[in-house]
Amino acid sequence: SSSWQEPPYKTPIPEKYYGTANSTQRASAVIVILARNRELREVLASMARFERRFNRNYGYPYVFLNEVLFTDEFKEQVSTATSAQVQFGLIPHEHWFQPSWIDESKASAARQAMGPLFYGHSVSYRNMCRFQSGFFFRHPLLQQYKYYWRVEPDVQFYCDIEFDPFLFMEGEDKKYAFTVALPENEKTIKGLWPAVLEFKETYPHLISPDNAFSMLVDRQRDTYNGCHFWSNFEIASFDLWRSDAYLKFFDFMDSKGGFYYSRWGDAILHTFGAALFLRKDQIHFFNEIGYRHVPITHCPSGPSHSRGRCECNVTDSFDRHSWSCLDKYDGLFIPDGSSP
Ligand code: GDP
Ligand code: MN
Repeated sequence: SSSWQEPPYKTPIPEKYYGTANSTQRASAVIVILARNRELREVLASMARFERRFNRNYGYPYVFLNEVLFTDEFKEQVSTATSAQVQFGLIPHEHWFQPSWIDESKASAARQAMGPLFYGHSVSYRNMCRFQSGFFFRHPLLQQYKYYWRVEPDVQFYCDIEFDPFLFMEGEDKKYAFTVALPENEKTIKGLWPAVLEFKETYPHLISPDNAFSMLVDRQRDTYNGCHFWSNFEIASFDLWRSDAYLKFFDFMDSKGGFYYSRWGDAILHTFGAALFLRKDQIHFFNEIGYRHVPITHCPSGPSHSRGRCECNVTDSFDRHSWSCLDKYDGLFIPDGSSP
């Protein structure tokens, strides 16, 4: 398109999405928490904040996932932290563990070479990344839902959320929403960019017109700029990940072995999925949702800050940091920055 558009988040959330808490209007949506038994305290901390700021008024159900059974203590404590429905799911073995076709000697050499930073030594972290990239949305407990909100242990919600983000997503045809976008460390993405380009060239018919791919390209160096949506916070449509295009993309990327021969993360896979298979206006930045996962804060700017009674400092917001990739997202809506 050639005409100037404001990035959609600069338009306030329409009033019709506020104040529905007291009505029976709800989206088909679920809160998804992947966690380990030993993270019980951190999970309870996230839930207390999430309930206080949002869900006590909405009662959206929770699904907890784990590759081992949750303990009775975990289940009991979590269930008392909310009046909403809570379910606990076991992840199927074949959705979690390193596949047998991965060359373990090559994988272990890669882990040693990467070192301890960025979970370079960890196999379990890699299993987690691959699961979040390609499998969580296939879990039987999630099949009935259209949208989800991903919540992690020990995150903060700083503001009252008095609109329904799921109804907003549905009503405005949004499919993927974030609060933080930042560049990835190059050590974790070895081999990723050539694989993405190969996919794009092999399956051009799967790529969305008016996509967001250009926000990920460093034009000067003609390569990936590392920008990605920080996936510890996600509000998104399951349809995106369940689509033929994304499933094909996941299988293609998985077959390269990069989850184990490097340390490709789910944030990167999701970002490319959203950027390749959605229209750019289906990707949304929730300025209104104050959020923190160590070490990054997003604090709402503008009128949303006082409307949400936010307990965070706008000057601490990562949006203002020179590393933030929000300007790349904004660039999508400038005519000159249109998708390649
Ligand atoms: P970081 O945010 O990238 O530093 O990684 P986290 O340790 O927070 O892990 C990301 C998410 O995956 C969190 O929700 C964790 O609870 C979860 N997670 C990480 N590793 C495992 C694991 O081995 N098993 C399970 N069940 N969950 C995990
Ligand atoms: Mn985390």
